Amino acid sequence: MPQPHATIIGAGIVGVSSAAFLQRAGYRVTLIDRLPPGEGCSFGNAGGLAFAEIVPPIHPRILLKIPGWLMDPLGPLTIRWSYLPKALPWFLAAGRNALPARVAAITEARANLALRVVADFETLLRDAGSTDLLKYEDTLRLYDNEQQFAAEANERAVKKTYGYEMKRLSGGECRELEPALSPHIHCGTFHGGWYFVTDPERTVKTIAEHVVRQGGEIIADDVVRIAREGTTAKTLVLKSGRNIALDKLVICGGAYSHLLARQLGEKVLLEAERGYHMVLPNSGVKLSRSITYASTPGAATPMDMGLRLAGSDEFAGLEAEPNWARADALWKIFKKILPTLNEPDSATTRWMGRRPGTPDSLPVIGPSKTVSNVWYGFGHSHMGLTWGPTTGRLISELMTGTRSNIDLAPFRVDRF
Ligand SMILES: Cc1cc2nc3c(=O)[nH]c(=O)nc-3n(C[C@H](O)[C@H](O)[C@H](O)COP(=O)(O)OP(=O)(O)OC[C@H]3O[C@@H](n4cnc5c(N)ncnc54)[C@H](O)[C@@H]3O)c2cc1C
Repeated sequence: MPQPHATIIGAGIVGVSSAAFLQRAGYRVTLIDRLPPGEGCSFGNAGGLAFAEIVPPIHPRILLKIPGWLMDPLGPLTIRWSYLPKALPWFLAAGRNALPARVAAITEARANLALRVVADFETLLRDAGSTDLLKYEDTLRLYDNEQQFAAEANERAVKKTYGYEMKRLSGGECRELEPALSPHIHCGTFHGGWYFVTDPERTVKTIAEHVVRQGGEIIADDVVRIAREGTTAKTLVLKSGRNIALDKLVICGGAYSHLLARQLGEKVLLEAERGYHMVLPNSGVKLSRSITYASTPGAATPMDMGLRLAGSDEFAGLEAEPNWARADALWKIFKKILPTLNEPDSATTRWMGRRPGTPDSLPVIGPSKTVSNVWYGFGHSHMGLTWGPTTGRLISELMTGTRSNIDLAPFRVDRF
Protein backbone atom coordinates (compact mmCIF):
# COMPACT_ATOMS: atom_id res chain seq x y z
CA MET A 1 0.00 0.00 0.00
CA PRO A 2 1.37 3.49 -0.82
CA GLN A 3 2.16 5.62 2.22
CA PRO A 4 -0.78 7.99 2.91
CA HIS A 5 -0.04 11.72 2.69
CA ALA A 6 -1.53 14.61 4.65
CA THR A 7 -1.22 18.29 3.83
CA ILE A 8 -1.68 20.51 6.86
CA ILE A 9 -2.51 24.20 6.56
CA GLY A 10 -1.03 26.07 9.52
CA ALA A 11 2.21 25.53 11.43
CA GLY A 12 1.08 26.76 14.83
CA ILE A 13 0.99 24.47 17.85
CA VAL A 14 -2.09 22.66 16.50
CA GLY A 15 -0.69 22.14 12.99
CA VAL A 16 2.76 20.93 14.03
CA SER A 17 1.22 18.62 16.66
CA SER A 18 -1.10 17.16 14.03
CA ALA A 19 1.84 16.68 11.66
CA ALA A 20 3.91 14.96 14.35
CA PHE A 21 1.12 12.59 15.44
CA LEU A 22 0.25 11.80 11.82
CA GLN A 23 3.90 10.89 11.18
CA ARG A 24 3.78 8.60 14.21
CA ALA A 25 0.71 6.97 12.59
CA GLY A 26 2.62 6.33 9.36
CA TYR A 27 1.71 9.39 7.29
CA ARG A 28 3.96 11.47 5.08
CA VAL A 29 3.22 15.11 5.88
CA THR A 30 3.49 18.56 4.31
CA LEU A 31 2.90 21.69 6.39
CA ILE A 32 2.00 24.94 4.63
CA ASP A 33 2.13 28.32 6.35
CA ARG A 34 2.72 31.86 5.16
CA LEU A 35 4.70 32.41 8.39
CA PRO A 36 7.56 30.36 9.83
CA PRO A 37 6.40 27.71 12.36
CA GLY A 38 5.19 29.15 15.65
CA GLU A 39 4.98 32.76 14.51
CA GLY A 40 1.19 33.09 14.47
CA CYS A 41 -0.83 33.12 17.68
CA SER A 42 1.33 30.32 19.11
CA PHE A 43 4.30 32.71 19.28
CA GLY A 44 3.35 34.78 22.26
CA ASN A 45 1.05 32.98 24.66
CA ALA A 46 1.45 32.83 28.42
CA GLY A 47 2.95 29.34 28.21
CA GLY A 48 0.51 27.65 30.59
CA LEU A 49 -0.62 24.05 30.17
CA ALA A 50 -3.88 25.15 31.68
CA PHE A 51 -5.60 21.76 31.65
CA ALA A 52 -7.53 22.55 34.86
CA GLU A 53 -9.26 25.51 33.17
CA ILE A 54 -12.31 23.42 32.44
CA VAL A 55 -14.95 26.06 33.22
CA PRO A 56 -15.43 28.11 30.03
CA PRO A 57 -14.32 31.76 30.22
CA ILE A 58 -17.86 32.97 29.52
CA HIS A 59 -20.21 31.80 32.27
CA PRO A 60 -22.97 33.46 34.33
CA ARG A 61 -20.65 35.18 36.86
CA ILE A 62 -18.43 36.61 34.13
CA LEU A 63 -21.47 37.66 32.08
CA LEU A 64 -22.35 40.11 34.87
CA LYS A 65 -18.85 41.61 34.76
CA ILE A 66 -18.75 42.11 30.99
CA PRO A 67 -20.71 45.44 30.83
CA GLY A 68 -18.25 47.01 33.31
CA TRP A 69 -15.26 45.66 31.42
CA LEU A 70 -16.62 47.01 28.14
CA MET A 71 -16.92 50.53 29.57
CA ASP A 72 -13.16 50.63 30.17
CA PRO A 73 -11.27 50.96 26.86
CA LEU A 74 -8.20 49.31 28.42
CA GLY A 75 -10.16 46.76 30.46
CA PRO A 76 -9.63 43.01 30.04
CA LEU A 77 -12.35 42.73 27.37
CA THR A 78 -12.99 45.29 24.67
CA ILE A 79 -14.72 45.58 21.35
CA ARG A 80 -14.02 48.21 18.73
CA TRP A 81 -17.57 49.47 18.37
CA SER A 82 -17.34 49.82 14.58
CA TYR A 83 -16.71 46.07 14.52
CA LEU A 84 -19.75 45.12 16.65
CA PRO A 85 -22.24 44.50 13.79
CA LYS A 86 -19.85 41.96 12.29
CA ALA A 87 -19.23 40.18 15.58
CA LEU A 88 -22.88 40.29 16.73
CA PRO A 89 -23.82 36.71 15.69
CA TRP A 90 -20.78 35.45 17.61
CA PHE A 91 -21.73 37.43 20.73
CA LEU A 92 -25.34 36.25 20.59
CA ALA A 93 -24.16 32.65 20.34
CA ALA A 94 -21.69 33.23 23.19
CA GLY A 95 -24.59 34.54 25.31
CA ARG A 96 -26.63 31.38 24.63
CA ASN A 97 -23.63 29.27 25.62
CA ALA A 98 -23.37 31.07 28.96
CA LEU A 99 -26.65 29.53 30.18
CA PRO A 100 -26.06 27.09 33.05
CA ALA A 101 -26.98 23.89 31.15
CA ARG A 102 -24.66 24.78 28.28
CA VAL A 103 -21.86 25.75 30.68
CA ALA A 104 -22.15 22.31 32.32
CA ALA A 105 -21.99 20.51 28.96
CA ILE A 106 -19.06 22.65 27.76
CA THR A 107 -17.23 22.06 31.03
CA GLU A 108 -17.60 18.31 30.55
CA ALA A 109 -16.19 18.53 27.01
CA ARG A 110 -13.27 20.70 28.14
CA ALA A 111 -12.53 18.30 30.99
CA ASN A 112 -12.46 15.39 28.53
CA LEU A 113 -10.06 17.23 26.27
CA ALA A 114 -7.80 17.88 29.26
CA LEU A 115 -7.37 14.22 30.14
CA ARG A 116 -4.20 13.53 28.16
CA VAL A 117 -2.74 17.01 27.77
CA VAL A 118 0.47 16.34 29.65
CA ALA A 119 1.04 12.86 28.18
CA ASP A 120 0.50 14.13 24.62
CA PHE A 121 2.76 17.14 25.15
CA GLU A 122 5.48 14.97 26.65
CA THR A 123 5.22 12.50 23.77
CA LEU A 124 5.94 15.25 21.23
CA LEU A 125 8.74 16.90 23.19
CA ARG A 126 10.35 13.54 24.01
CA ASP A 127 10.30 12.58 20.32
CA ALA A 128 11.88 15.98 19.52
CA GLY A 129 14.47 15.54 22.29
CA SER A 130 13.45 18.75 24.08
CA THR A 131 11.56 17.91 27.27
CA ASP A 132 13.51 20.74 28.95
CA LEU A 133 11.03 23.20 27.40
CA LEU A 134 8.31 21.90 29.70
CA LYS A 135 8.60 23.04 33.30
CA TYR A 136 6.80 21.08 36.01
CA GLU A 137 5.90 23.77 38.52
CA ASP A 138 2.79 24.59 40.50
CA THR A 139 0.92 27.82 39.86
CA LEU A 140 -0.50 30.52 42.12
CA ARG A 141 -3.69 32.53 41.73
CA LEU A 142 -3.75 35.70 43.79
CA TYR A 143 -6.54 37.65 45.47
CA ASP A 144 -6.70 41.19 46.86
CA ASN A 145 -9.44 40.41 49.36
CA GLU A 146 -11.85 37.80 50.70
CA GLN A 147 -14.67 38.88 48.37
CA GLN A 148 -12.57 38.17 45.31
CA PHE A 149 -11.68 34.74 46.67
CA ALA A 150 -15.30 33.94 47.59
CA ALA A 151 -16.53 34.99 44.13
CA GLU A 152 -14.72 32.03 42.55
CA ALA A 153 -16.07 29.40 44.97
CA ASN A 154 -18.36 27.90 42.36
CA GLU A 155 -15.60 27.49 39.75
CA ARG A 156 -13.37 25.88 42.38
CA ALA A 157 -16.18 23.48 43.36
CA VAL A 158 -16.74 22.47 39.72
CA LYS A 159 -13.01 21.88 39.22
CA LYS A 160 -12.96 19.76 42.37
CA THR A 161 -15.67 17.46 41.00
CA TYR A 162 -13.34 16.81 38.06
CA GLY A 163 -10.40 16.08 40.34
CA TYR A 164 -8.66 19.47 40.20
CA GLU A 165 -8.29 20.66 43.73
CA MET A 166 -6.76 23.99 44.69
CA LYS A 167 -5.31 24.61 48.11
CA ARG A 168 -5.90 27.96 49.80
CA LEU A 169 -2.79 29.81 50.98
CA SER A 170 -2.58 32.88 53.19
CA GLY A 171 -0.95 36.04 51.83
CA GLY A 172 2.15 35.23 53.92
CA GLU A 173 2.36 31.71 52.50
CA CYS A 174 2.09 33.12 48.96
CA ARG A 175 4.99 35.50 49.70
CA GLU A 176 7.04 32.64 51.13
CA LEU A 177 6.73 30.95 47.73
CA GLU A 178 7.18 34.16 45.74
CA PRO A 179 8.93 36.90 47.74
CA ALA A 180 8.38 39.42 44.92
CA LEU A 181 4.63 39.58 45.68
CA SER A 182 3.08 42.70 47.16
CA PRO A 183 2.38 42.66 50.92
CA HIS A 184 -1.24 43.57 50.16
CA ILE A 185 -2.02 40.13 48.66
CA HIS A 186 -4.75 38.72 50.90
CA CYS A 187 -4.60 35.06 49.86
CA GLY A 188 -3.95 32.72 47.00
CA THR A 189 -4.84 29.36 45.57
CA PHE A 190 -2.10 26.90 44.94
CA HIS A 191 -2.39 24.49 42.09
CA GLY A 192 -0.01 21.55 42.27
CA GLY A 193 0.82 19.40 39.23
CA TRP A 194 0.93 22.35 36.82
CA TYR A 195 3.21 22.85 33.83
CA PHE A 196 4.34 25.75 31.69
CA VAL A 197 6.64 26.06 28.70
CA THR A 198 9.58 28.42 28.96
CA ASP A 199 9.40 29.49 25.30
CA PRO A 200 6.16 28.91 23.34
CA GLU A 201 7.68 29.86 19.97
CA ARG A 202 10.65 27.54 20.42
CA THR A 203 8.27 24.76 21.50
CA VAL A 204 6.48 24.91 18.13
CA LYS A 205 9.72 25.29 16.16
CA THR A 206 11.24 22.32 17.99
CA ILE A 207 8.30 20.07 17.09
CA ALA A 208 8.39 21.38 13.49
CA GLU A 209 12.13 20.65 13.21
CA HIS A 210 11.50 17.11 14.41
CA VAL A 211 8.76 16.71 11.78
CA VAL A 212 11.27 17.77 9.10
CA ARG A 213 13.94 15.40 10.46
CA GLN A 214 11.37 12.61 10.12
CA GLY A 215 10.94 13.42 6.41
CA GLY A 216 8.16 16.05 6.63
CA GLU A 217 8.14 19.07 4.35
CA ILE A 218 7.34 22.70 5.21
CA ILE A 219 6.20 25.05 2.45
CA ALA A 220 6.26 28.81 3.14
CA ASP A 221 3.28 30.10 1.19
CA ASP A 222 -0.25 31.39 1.47
CA VAL A 223 -3.16 29.07 0.64
CA VAL A 224 -5.57 31.16 -1.41
CA ARG A 225 -7.98 28.50 -2.63
CA ILE A 226 -9.04 24.92 -2.00
CA ALA A 227 -10.17 23.47 -5.34
CA ARG A 228 -12.78 20.69 -5.13
CA GLU A 229 -14.09 18.03 -7.42
CA GLY A 230 -17.49 16.95 -6.11
CA THR A 231 -17.00 15.97 -2.48
CA THR A 232 -13.23 15.71 -2.67
CA ALA A 233 -10.70 18.48 -2.03
CA LYS A 234 -8.33 18.05 -4.97
CA THR A 235 -5.80 20.88 -5.02
CA LEU A 236 -4.50 23.77 -2.98
CA VAL A 237 -3.82 26.91 -4.96
CA LEU A 238 -0.98 28.88 -3.37
CA LYS A 239 -0.25 32.59 -3.65
CA SER A 240 3.04 31.86 -5.43
CA GLY A 241 1.04 30.21 -8.19
CA ARG A 242 2.07 26.72 -7.18
CA ASN A 243 -0.62 24.00 -6.97
CA ILE A 244 -0.47 21.22 -4.39
CA ALA A 245 -2.32 17.98 -5.17
CA LEU A 246 -4.15 16.62 -2.14
CA ASP A 247 -4.53 13.18 -0.69
CA LYS A 248 -5.86 14.25 2.75
CA LEU A 249 -6.08 17.80 4.05
CA VAL A 250 -6.03 19.06 7.65
CA ILE A 251 -7.02 22.68 8.33
CA CYS A 252 -5.25 24.15 11.38
CA GLY A 253 -5.23 27.78 10.28
CA GLY A 254 -5.89 29.32 13.69
CA ALA A 255 -8.01 32.49 13.54
CA TYR A 256 -8.18 32.28 9.71
CA SER A 257 -9.64 28.76 9.58
CA HIS A 258 -13.27 29.82 9.05
CA LEU A 259 -12.22 31.47 5.78
CA LEU A 260 -10.93 28.10 4.54
CA ALA A 261 -13.94 26.17 5.91
CA ARG A 262 -16.24 28.60 4.10
CA GLN A 263 -14.65 27.57 0.80
CA LEU A 264 -15.85 24.05 1.57
CA GLY A 265 -19.39 25.26 2.28
CA GLU A 266 -19.05 25.06 6.07
CA LYS A 267 -20.15 27.98 8.23
CA VAL A 268 -18.17 28.43 11.42
CA LEU A 269 -18.51 31.23 13.95
CA LEU A 270 -14.91 32.19 14.63
CA GLU A 271 -13.60 35.51 15.92
CA ALA A 272 -10.06 36.70 16.48
CA GLU A 273 -9.83 37.21 20.23
CA ARG A 274 -6.84 39.48 20.14
CA GLY A 275 -4.49 39.13 23.10
CA TYR A 276 -1.34 41.05 23.98
CA HIS A 277 1.90 40.45 25.76
CA MET A 278 4.80 42.44 27.09
CA VAL A 279 8.15 40.73 27.74
CA LEU A 280 10.53 42.42 30.16
CA PRO A 281 14.04 40.91 29.96
CA ASN A 282 15.03 43.32 32.76
CA SER A 283 11.91 42.96 34.90
CA GLY A 284 13.61 43.26 38.29
CA VAL A 285 11.27 40.49 39.46
CA LYS A 286 12.18 36.90 40.15
CA LEU A 287 9.28 34.46 39.88
CA SER A 288 9.63 30.68 40.07
CA ARG A 289 6.21 29.94 38.70
CA SER A 290 3.43 31.35 36.57
CA ILE A 291 0.96 33.54 38.50
CA THR A 292 -2.53 34.78 37.75
CA TYR A 293 -4.39 37.61 39.43
CA ALA A 294 -8.12 37.39 40.15
CA SER A 295 -8.75 41.09 39.58
CA THR A 296 -8.19 40.67 35.83
CA PRO A 297 -7.65 37.79 33.39
CA GLY A 298 -3.98 37.33 32.45
CA ALA A 299 -0.77 35.70 33.62
CA ALA A 300 2.83 36.57 34.44
CA THR A 301 5.22 33.78 33.48
CA PRO A 302 8.99 33.57 33.94
CA MET A 303 10.27 32.60 30.49
CA ASP A 304 13.68 32.10 28.93
CA MET A 305 13.53 35.54 27.29
CA GLY A 306 12.28 37.42 30.38
CA LEU A 307 9.12 37.94 32.39
CA ARG A 308 6.11 37.66 30.10
CA LEU A 309 2.89 39.48 31.04
CA ALA A 310 0.09 38.19 28.84
CA GLY A 311 -3.66 38.66 28.61
CA SER A 312 -6.37 40.95 27.23
CA ASP A 313 -9.23 40.10 24.90
CA GLU A 314 -9.99 42.54 22.08
CA PHE A 315 -12.60 42.05 19.37
CA ALA A 316 -11.58 44.10 16.35
CA GLY A 317 -11.36 41.58 13.53
CA LEU A 318 -8.32 40.05 11.87
CA GLU A 319 -6.86 43.11 10.21
CA ALA A 320 -7.14 46.07 12.64
CA GLU A 321 -3.87 47.60 13.84
CA PRO A 322 -2.77 46.58 17.37
CA ASN A 323 -3.55 48.95 20.22
CA TRP A 324 -0.25 48.83 22.13
CA ALA A 325 -1.81 50.65 25.07
CA ARG A 326 -3.40 47.28 25.86
CA ALA A 327 0.04 45.70 26.28
CA ASP A 328 1.08 48.62 28.49
CA ALA A 329 -2.10 48.11 30.55
CA LEU A 330 -0.85 44.62 31.45
CA TRP A 331 2.24 46.19 33.00
CA LYS A 332 0.08 48.47 35.16
CA ILE A 333 -1.99 45.51 36.35
CA PHE A 334 0.95 43.34 37.32
CA LYS A 335 2.80 46.28 38.91
CA LYS A 336 0.03 46.21 41.55
CA ILE A 337 1.05 42.75 42.73
CA LEU A 338 4.76 42.86 41.81
CA PRO A 339 5.90 46.18 43.30
CA THR A 340 9.55 45.85 42.19
CA LEU A 341 8.54 45.39 38.54
CA ASN A 342 10.79 47.69 36.49
CA GLU A 343 9.47 50.19 33.96
CA PRO A 344 9.56 48.91 30.37
CA ASP A 345 12.94 49.72 28.77
CA SER A 346 14.55 49.45 25.34
CA ALA A 347 14.79 45.65 25.68
CA THR A 348 11.04 45.32 26.36
CA THR A 349 8.94 43.83 23.55
CA ARG A 350 5.21 44.00 22.89
CA TRP A 351 3.15 41.60 20.81
CA MET A 352 -0.44 41.02 19.68
CA GLY A 353 -1.82 37.60 18.66
CA ARG A 354 -5.17 36.45 17.32
CA ARG A 355 -6.71 33.67 19.40
CA PRO A 356 -9.06 31.58 17.27
CA GLY A 357 -12.23 31.90 19.36
CA THR A 358 -15.51 30.02 19.02
CA PRO A 359 -18.61 31.22 20.92
CA ASP A 360 -18.75 28.01 22.99
CA SER A 361 -15.06 28.03 23.97
CA LEU A 362 -14.59 24.62 22.37
CA PRO A 363 -12.38 23.88 19.40
CA VAL A 364 -13.43 22.30 16.15
CA ILE A 365 -11.86 18.85 15.94
CA GLY A 366 -13.07 16.36 13.38
CA PRO A 367 -13.96 15.65 9.80
CA SER A 368 -15.54 18.04 7.34
CA LYS A 369 -19.22 17.29 6.74
CA THR A 370 -19.13 18.40 3.12
CA VAL A 371 -15.86 17.01 1.82
CA SER A 372 -14.62 13.47 2.37
CA ASN A 373 -10.86 14.05 2.69
CA VAL A 374 -10.69 17.10 4.98
CA TRP A 375 -10.30 17.30 8.78
CA TYR A 376 -10.31 20.34 11.05
CA GLY A 377 -8.27 21.35 14.11
CA PHE A 378 -8.84 24.96 15.11
CA GLY A 379 -10.77 27.28 17.42
CA HIS A 380 -8.74 26.67 20.59
CA SER A 381 -9.02 30.27 21.76
CA HIS A 382 -7.34 30.73 25.18
CA MET A 383 -6.32 27.06 25.35
CA GLY A 384 -4.42 26.24 22.17
CA LEU A 385 -1.06 25.57 23.73
CA THR A 386 -2.75 23.29 26.25
CA TRP A 387 -4.99 21.38 23.86
CA GLY A 388 -2.80 21.54 20.72
CA PRO A 389 -0.89 18.26 21.14
CA THR A 390 -4.05 16.37 22.19
CA THR A 391 -5.86 17.79 19.15
CA GLY A 392 -3.04 16.49 16.96
CA ARG A 393 -3.37 13.05 18.47
CA LEU A 394 -7.17 13.04 18.10
CA ILE A 395 -6.91 14.10 14.44
CA SER A 396 -4.43 11.32 13.73
CA GLU A 397 -6.74 8.83 15.48
CA LEU A 398 -9.72 10.01 13.43
CA MET A 399 -7.76 9.80 10.19
CA THR A 400 -6.51 6.30 10.92
CA GLY A 401 -9.83 4.99 12.21
CA THR A 402 -8.50 4.51 15.75
CA ARG A 403 -11.11 4.77 18.48
CA SER A 404 -10.59 7.84 20.59
CA ASN A 405 -10.72 7.95 24.39
CA ILE A 406 -13.27 10.78 24.50
CA ASP A 407 -16.61 11.80 23.02
CA LEU A 408 -15.81 14.08 20.07
CA ALA A 409 -19.41 15.16 19.32
CA PRO A 410 -19.08 18.54 21.12
CA PHE A 411 -16.25 19.49 18.73
CA ARG A 412 -17.99 18.80 15.41
CA VAL A 413 -17.85 21.47 12.73
CA ASP A 414 -21.60 21.61 11.98
CA ARG A 415 -22.64 22.81 15.44
CA PHE A 416 -22.70 26.56 14.67
C1 LIG B 1 -1.94 36.70 25.06
C2 LIG B 1 -2.24 35.23 24.87
C3 LIG B 1 -1.97 34.35 25.92
C4 LIG B 1 -2.27 32.99 25.77
N1 LIG B 1 -1.94 32.11 26.77
C5 LIG B 1 -2.18 30.78 26.61
C6 LIG B 1 -1.79 29.86 27.62
O1 LIG B 1 -1.16 30.21 28.61
N2 LIG B 1 -2.11 28.55 27.43
C7 LIG B 1 -2.77 28.12 26.32
O2 LIG B 1 -3.05 26.93 26.21
N3 LIG B 1 -3.10 28.96 25.32
C8 LIG B 1 -2.82 30.28 25.44
N4 LIG B 1 -3.15 31.16 24.44
C9 LIG B 1 -3.86 30.65 23.26
C10 LIG B 1 -2.94 29.97 22.25
O3 LIG B 1 -1.79 30.74 22.01
C11 LIG B 1 -3.70 29.75 20.94
O4 LIG B 1 -4.91 29.08 21.19
C12 LIG B 1 -2.89 28.90 19.98
O5 LIG B 1 -1.64 29.50 19.72
C13 LIG B 1 -3.61 28.66 18.67
O6 LIG B 1 -2.79 27.82 17.91
P1 LIG B 1 -3.12 27.51 16.40
O7 LIG B 1 -2.10 26.56 15.91
O8 LIG B 1 -4.56 27.16 16.28
O9 LIG B 1 -3.00 28.94 15.67
P2 LIG B 1 -1.68 29.78 15.12
O10 LIG B 1 -0.57 29.60 16.08
O11 LIG B 1 -2.18 31.11 14.86
O12 LIG B 1 -1.34 28.99 13.81
C14 LIG B 1 -2.15 29.05 12.66
C15 LIG B 1 -1.26 29.28 11.47
O13 LIG B 1 -2.03 29.13 10.28
C16 LIG B 1 -1.49 29.98 9.32
N5 LIG B 1 -2.49 30.19 8.26
C17 LIG B 1 -3.79 30.49 8.40
N6 LIG B 1 -4.40 30.58 7.21
C18 LIG B 1 -3.45 30.34 6.28
C19 LIG B 1 -3.46 30.31 4.87
N7 LIG B 1 -4.59 30.54 4.18
N8 LIG B 1 -2.30 30.05 4.22
C20 LIG B 1 -1.14 29.83 4.92
N9 LIG B 1 -1.08 29.84 6.27
C21 LIG B 1 -2.23 30.09 6.94
C22 LIG B 1 -1.13 31.24 10.08
O14 LIG B 1 -0.14 31.98 9.42
C23 LIG B 1 -0.64 30.66 11.43
O15 LIG B 1 0.75 30.58 11.51
C24 LIG B 1 -2.85 32.52 24.56
C25 LIG B 1 -3.08 33.40 23.50
C26 LIG B 1 -2.76 34.75 23.64
C27 LIG B 1 -2.99 35.68 22.50
